[in-house]
Amino acid sequence: MTRDEVISAFNAIRVWQNGDRRAVHKPLLVLLALSRVNEVTAQTMDWNDAEPLLKVLLEEFGPDGSSNTRHYPFWHLQTDGFWKLDGPPEILNRPAGATPTLTELRQNHVRGGFTMPIYNALKAEPELINNVAQRIVNAHFPESIRGDVLDAVGLAQVESMGTPRDPQRRRDPAFRAMVLLAYQYRCAVCGHDLRMGQQSIGLEAAHIKWFQANGPDEVPNGIAMCSLHHKVFDLGAFKILPETYQMVFSQHLNGGEAASHRMLAYHGSGMILPQAKEYLPHPVNLDWHARQVFKSPERSSV
Ligand SMILES: [Zn+2]
Repeated sequence: MTRDEVISAFNAIRVWQNGDRRAVHKPLLVLLALSRVNEVTAQTMDWNDAEPLLKVLLEEFGPDGSSNTRHYPFWHLQTDGFWKLDGPPEILNRPAGATPTLTELRQNHVRGGFTMPIYNALKAEPELINNVAQRIVNAHFPESIRGDVLDAVGLAQVESMGTPRDPQRRRDPAFRAMVLLAYQYRCAVCGHDLRMGQQSIGLEAAHIKWFQANGPDEVPNGIAMCSLHHKVFDLGAFKILPETYQMVFSQHLNGGEAASHRMLAYHGSGMILPQAKEYLPHPVNLDWHARQVFKSPERSSV
């Protein structure tokens, strides 16, 4: 199997999107499997070994509650052409729609892994592993947390690759400039507005509904944030309520004095609003973020 054939086998990832909902089960399992190609000699992994790792990944980077269906990708990846299962025939011969239960996968020690041609091609060219992994995180996660996702599975960032070209969808290069202007070049959470000459430092245009989930490059889908608040917003540490624009933090965010000072101090207070009404975050986008990214439960009201 050639390098290009391997890459195009994984490019099917584009169709994994499930409408508006974030479908990260398959991408996270594939990343996990990629990270193991170099580490272990076995081509497949026992579900009992994969399960705890996948659960943690889904809890950290998936939408709320997604770890409850952590076994789905292990089964459903079979239909994507590069994933193979080993186990008792009474389980493997089931129709594709009849997903085995967690208990069945555990008790039967069902194993899953890349098909032999894919596995051998990856093993022969370790750089290809990082290349494929980078394509997957680029397609499914915003830039601010891609490094964290790869770190969590033990894979390296490929810095030079950037976002893969997608003929369907191009990013609007003016998005960042429009959003920063709308917010007068300061973080909507903390007011950070550090500049060096004319250049803003550490200030970013966050997408409320992720670009990877077809969020538009329009100002009502953007908020200017410092890099720290952008990152925790993308990780679901806080959400913004429509109408009042109050920031509500998650119970999962913890830490010492720095956390209290830089994060929890804003719990319940209103974000700094943009300079005109038409720039306000759209409720549909805020709602998407609250459902697909925010990690509930929220902290008690202040
Ligand atoms: Zn900030």
